[in-house]
Amino acid sequence: MLDLPRNAEGGFALPSLRYAHDALDPVVDARTVEIHWGKHTHAYLNNLNAALDKAPEFKAMSLQQILANLDKAPADVKTALTNNGGGVSNHVMYWDVMGPNGGTPSGALLAAIEEAFGDVETFKTKFDEAGVKQFGSGWVNLVIGDDGRLMLEGRLNQDTPLTQGRSIILGNDVWEHAYYLVYQNRRPDYLKSWWDVVDWAHVGKRFDMIKAGQIIL
Ligand code: MN
Repeated sequence: MLDLPRNAEGGFALPSLRYAHDALDPVVDARTVEIHWGKHTHAYLNNLNAALDKAPEFKAMSLQQILANLDKAPADVKTALTNNGGGVSNHVMYWDVMGPNGGTPSGALLAAIEEAFGDVETFKTKFDEAGVKQFGSGWVNLVIGDDGRLMLEGRLNQDTPLTQGRSIILGNDVWEHAYYLVYQNRRPDYLKSWWDVVDWAHVGKRFDMIKAGQIIL
């Protein structure tokens, strides 16, 4: 999404989910959504707002601007802004790319996937491999590289390419909290099943916005 809503105190708020908590079941079950959205994602938001209260010069910025200017953040809040700013942006993206309607890539996004990876199945296989390979907690993301072609990248913890002004088209959360209740240690099974809840029509819209030069969460 383009920009986060604000709360009454001038901090950030979270958008509502576009779907019910059980809409992604059984791939991402209702209990996981309850905890991952209701607890983890909201904790990142609350911690980000608390850090911004200590850095008033950052409070008026968009989250995209904050992440692109972390090197200028006061030393005592830099780590909190890095972890929780990235935590919020990564999770806003994660909840945004999922939905119960699934589908398949089409239009300009399909053409870009085929150009970079050959076909959709090969792309999914490479994405899953990158997700399995990501050691510890982190993310696997599809982004547009410097050469204008799609590429995959792994990111540790809550690191995000938005710190380099680069938006994520589609990314999956490989922190254990994203899958442990249903898949336990079987991260490869989670990655494989996750494709069933990717809302490709919505991801296509994200791609079009990013291609048009917008920096989105
Ligand atoms: Mn998470």
